[in-house]
Amino acid sequence: MSGPSRELVLATRSAGKLRELEPLLAQHGWTAITLERLGVPVAEDEEALEVFETFEGNALAKARYFAALTGRVVVADDSGLAVDALGGRPGVHSKRWSGSALEGAALDAFNNAYLQARLTEAAQVGRSSREAAYLCAAACVWPAGEVCVVGETRGRLLHEARGTGGFGYDPYFFSHDLQATFAEVDRDRKAVVSHRGRAFRALFDELASFFSSAVDPDARSG
Ligand code: IMP
Repeated sequence: MSGPSRELVLATRSAGKLRELEPLLAQHGWTAITLERLGVPVAEDEEALEVFETFEGNALAKARYFAALTGRVVVADDSGLAVDALGGRPGVHSKRWSGSALEGAALDAFNNAYLQARLTEAAQVGRSSREAAYLCAAACVWPAGEVCVVGETRGRLLHEARGTGGFGYDPYFFSHDLQATFAEVDRDRKAVVSHRGRAFRALFDELASFFSSAVDPDARSG
């Protein structure tokens, strides 16, 4: 993409997401500014923003909140795992599904153990499919408009973990596109087919029609 690099605020506190999103933004001519760099302190009401039952509702709520706070172009996402045999659960509740209050690798371990237990229960009542999707809604809000798009990727949940990369449910998520788990491939290969890669590429395509070259947050309303 030509023109000067444009800045946008990435409204996430997740290190895993930041690592995946920063190169994607750069490829599309955007420079990412983190909330930390802007000096936005963690507020108690941030997790309370995600009260909606759809990924789109939560992504837009986060982006609107930080756009109002900073007056800048803000991008936010909401993502999760939707398991066919569990009627689409955990969905928007993916992060805290197991009920653990831990963070990082310890939280992931609890969630993955919980996932295996739920899949075993489902199989016992005849729902033995281990097919699942990762979904991601990517939203952008600026003073004169907003857009939100959804990306999806499908796979099968393995019984055993494979690989050490990625985060969350990745060691168990065997991607149909890659024929490997998301924890077995590097960040770039994951981004080509991932829900987040797909959502953000679609978002940047949309944004290209609103922001033609230099930053002009008052350009066309969405
Ligand atoms: P949120 O989007 O920050 O609300 O959290 C999404 C949750 O869904 C994460 O904490 C993970 O448990 C799960 N998740 C979303 N995307 C991925 C991914 O790419 N890999 C593994 N887990 C993911």
